[in-house]
Amino acid sequence: MNKMYFEEINGCVIGKTTDEIINNNLNYGFSTRIGGVSIYHLSSLNLGVGRGDDIDNVKENYRIFCSAIGIKADSVTVPKQIHSDIIVKVTQKDKGKRIFRNTDLPDCDGFITTDKNVALGIFYADCTPVLLYDNIKNVLCVLHCGWRGTVRGFAETGVITMINDYGCRPKNIHAVIGPCIGPCHFEVGGEVALEFRRASLEKCIKNGEKAEKYYIDLKKANREYLLFAGIEKDNITVSEECTVCNTHKYFSHRGCGENTGRMAMIAQLKK
Ligand SMILES: [Zn+2]
Repeated sequence: MNKMYFEEINGCVIGKTTDEIINNNLNYGFSTRIGGVSIYHLSSLNLGVGRGDDIDNVKENYRIFCSAIGIKADSVTVPKQIHSDIIVKVTQKDKGKRIFRNTDLPDCDGFITTDKNVALGIFYADCTPVLLYDNIKNVLCVLHCGWRGTVRGFAETGVITMINDYGCRPKNIHAVIGPCIGPCHFEVGGEVALEFRRASLEKCIKNGEKAEKYYIDLKKANREYLLFAGIEKDNITVSEECTVCNTHKYFSHRGCGENTGRMAMIAQLKK
């Protein structure tokens, strides 16, 4: 079974998978808050734009993190995320958008490409980052799955897009579900739990100690959708860490407050 592990490079602590198909074909990494130049509550590797951080600090953080994972910072494009089920196709012409230059891309929560000249980024700080890669068709897709995206099956939408638009086969797709808020901390009310129940995700819900309170396992829910879409279980890596339990390592909306910074998952095709 593939696992997520962490590597320290250039002072950054970077999440990686043991999945060799992904390691052989992508430059990539899941960032933590460690290793950057931002200060106070954004300390230190804040990769989020629009978090009130000095843009020069954010750009420097991209340079530090990207250099650690073997990517040129100005080749990264990041979306304006809106908790949607929209996935946008990007190419070389989109390099640097939203960080190093203005973006004209539509707001969305996923990027997909077959172009090795652009690196794809997604932000997170409790929400679930999902990476999908098909090594036969050489297609890369990154997704930002909040609880709404998770329960609506955004992870499956990513797989379906790869199948329909690029001719991918689910058995060739490898996936990584990154660090996010864990079932230990994602407490919700009855209405949210009901949405997961309606999506047949009973096994991702646990009763809380308080009446009408439940705990949801977002990583498990995303994994269920990937399995449902036909991805093989041995090809799915799931992070074991909760962002709220580890606020020394991760920015966390629930753990640090809403003005906290953002981590990023950034990935680029090698060929
Ligand atoms: Zn936790």
